[in-house]
Amino acid sequence: MGIRRLIQLPEQIWKKFHSQGLILLYHRVATLDTDPQLLSVTPEHFSRHLEYLSEYYNPISLSELQRAMEVGKIPDKSVVVTFDDGYADNFQNAKPILEKYGIPATVFVTSGYVGSEREFWWDDLERLLLLPDQLPDQLELTINGKTWNWDLTRDPEKIIKQGHETKSKSWNVTLSSDPDPQYTVYRDLHKLLKPISHEEQESILSILAEWSGVSGTGRATHRSLSLKELNQLDRGRLIEIGAHTMTHSMLSMQPEAAQKEEIIQGKLSLERMLGHQVHTFSYPYGGKIDFNKTTVKIVRKAGIDTACANYGSTFIKKVDPYRLPRVLVRDWDLQVFSYNIGKWFNE
Ligand SMILES: [Zn+2]
Repeated sequence: MGIRRLIQLPEQIWKKFHSQGLILLYHRVATLDTDPQLLSVTPEHFSRHLEYLSEYYNPISLSELQRAMEVGKIPDKSVVVTFDDGYADNFQNAKPILEKYGIPATVFVTSGYVGSEREFWWDDLERLLLLPDQLPDQLELTINGKTWNWDLTRDPEKIIKQGHETKSKSWNVTLSSDPDPQYTVYRDLHKLLKPISHEEQESILSILAEWSGVSGTGRATHRSLSLKELNQLDRGRLIEIGAHTMTHSMLSMQPEAAQKEEIIQGKLSLERMLGHQVHTFSYPYGGKIDFNKTTVKIVRKAGIDTACANYGSTFIKKVDPYRLPRVLVRDWDLQVFSYNIGKWFNE
C-alpha cells in the first residue's frame, strides 16, 4: 500500500493504530428522586466508573492532555474526567471519590451561580412544572414576542392508574411518551427557554412560579457550589477549575456583545473568586448549534487555551484545542459504562 493510500485511510482505521484521547462529561454525582434531564450519576456508579478507569485506562488531567497534544503524543488509553455547570455535589460527592482513586478532573463552573440559592433554569422548570401534583388547567406565556397557550387538563383515568410521585420519579426526556400534559409543557418550555437570554428566562420563570403557586428560591439538593466549596475543590492538584460563562446562556443565539460579556465576565469573576487565572472553558450545552465562530474567537482572545464541546468521541493528536470532543456519561452501571468506553475507543 502506497503512502497516498495510507493517508486516505478512513479515520476509524487510522485511529486504531494511534493513541487516542477520550474526554468524559459528567454533570452531577448524587442520588436524586427525580432527574428528567438525566444529569446525575449516583455515587455508587461514579465510584465503579473510576475504579474501572484506574484499572484499565490511563486517567490524566485536561492540562496533561493539553501538553501531550502540544508535543503530538497522547499517552495510550488516555481518559480525562470533566464536570459541567458547578453543582455543589461535585464537591460533596465527587471529590472524595476522585481522591480515593487519585483520578484528576476539571470542573467547569458557571460563575454567576457560585454561592447562589437559585437553581439553574432547567432545574427550576422541573421544580415549577413537574414536581407539583396539581397545576392550573390553563397556561399562557409570551416568549420572544410570540404567545403560547397550553391546556393542562388531565385524563382522570390516568390519575387513578398511577400516582403523581411514581410518574415524576420514572419520567425523563428520553422517553417517547408523556404521562400527563405537564410533561409536554415541560418539554415545550425547555425548547423555548434554552435559546433566550438569562433575563428573559428569569422573567418567564417568575411568571411560572406565580402561576404554579410554588414558593422558595431553590432546592438545597440542586444548588451550585458555595465560594468556600469552590476554593476547597481548587485546593490541591487533583481538581482543576475551568470557566463555563456567567449565566449558562446558549452563546450562538446571543449577539457578539452579549457573548463577550458572558465569556469574559464569567472568566474574570471566576478568577477573582479563585485568586488565580483560568485557562480552560467549556461551551454551555456544547453542541454544534450552541456556539459559533464568533464564540471561538472571543474564547481565544480571552486567554483560554483549551475549550471543550459536547460531541464527537475519541481523538488522535490532531484536534482543534477550541473544539475538544467530549462524550456524555449517564447513570450507567459498570457493564454499560465499560461497554461504552470500549465502543468509543474501537469505533
Ligand atoms: Zn453546562
